[in-house]
Amino acid sequence: MANENNATYFRKVLRSSSVAVGYIRTMVSIIYGGNSSKTFLFDEEESCRPDRLFCFRLLFSVGPLRVEFNNPVSLEQIKDENPNVQLGGRFKPKDCEALQKVAIIIPFRKRDEHLKFWLYYLHPILQRQQLEYGVYVINQDGDETFNRAKLLNVGYQESLKDKDYNCFVFSDVDLIPMDDRNTYKCFSQPRHLSVSMDKFGFRLPYNQYFGGVSSMSKGQYLKINGFPNNYWGWGGEDDDIYNRLASKGMTISRPSGDIGKCRMIRHNRDKQNDPNPQRYQHPCETMNKDGINSLSYKLMSVEKLDLFTKITVDVGKP
Ligand code: UDP
Ligand code: BGC
Ligand code: MN
Repeated sequence: MANENNATYFRKVLRSSSVAVGYIRTMVSIIYGGNSSKTFLFDEEESCRPDRLFCFRLLFSVGPLRVEFNNPVSLEQIKDENPNVQLGGRFKPKDCEALQKVAIIIPFRKRDEHLKFWLYYLHPILQRQQLEYGVYVINQDGDETFNRAKLLNVGYQESLKDKDYNCFVFSDVDLIPMDDRNTYKCFSQPRHLSVSMDKFGFRLPYNQYFGGVSSMSKGQYLKINGFPNNYWGWGGEDDDIYNRLASKGMTISRPSGDIGKCRMIRHNRDKQNDPNPQRYQHPCETMNKDGINSLSYKLMSVEKLDLFTKITVDVGKP
């Protein structure tokens, strides 16, 4: 009985919000002459067609979230809690057409526990954000020195074989947003999303910091010839990417410090990822010759798993 009452109440709310949505839709098409989809494509806030947008923002976004890593989670549990996520870690909103198709690229090697937390927290958030998305875990094969930026390039290239993505979110496996209003999509300028990390005292370590989680449209990424392939080991590649963007006249878009709060799962430095002694050198002239146009790697396997697509690659060695 209580359930029936709830259902009736929910239907009523839905009915009145459709009336409101209808009104807003009319207003939007008057203002934008009925041709609004282009205007909104890489705008600051919207991710769905404007006629449906307001209903999603009201119904789905939660705001600040509790994030902790004390209790391990299992893939089975995550799968059960996310029945609408399709094979390969793909999702598409049922009742609205997303304007951006987002490939989420995660550089990876031997961080299975972190990946589980990432999937546990992010799948529900990304669905609430009503994104059309796919999750690609780019797994570096073998035990040679880690190469984060090259793995991100591989993710860009391989995800495009799957679908015509027009937005790419690059995320470390150990970073979890603490507010679901931090939308994992693209903007009119390249976006830095992990702007207040717990490990930096919830602030930027420096203004040019572009590490952790970032997003770029296909056009923005191609303007800088993608990412450098020659940063082996820890550090520097994110600063190089920042320099590439700045040298092409782009600026960095960011959420507010409040909405951009996130936690990093604590860890020790991985094996074969020691600080790169050349991490402070960012020769600008390499941008045109080192990037997506010079990328080479050996594809070892592509596995469509329940919650993500796992792409294993041999990226070579320094
Ligand atoms: N990473 C990984 N395995 C490794 C080294 C790095 O999966 O052996 C990936 C992982 O996504 C990680 C990211 O590269 O979050 C950045 O490395 P790390 O976390 O060490 O950098 P931090 O930002 O903590 O200094
Ligand atoms: C490194 C970056 C790193 C940043 C914050 C810099 O010195 O070059 O790669 O993201 O420190 O840890
Ligand atoms: Mn980390």
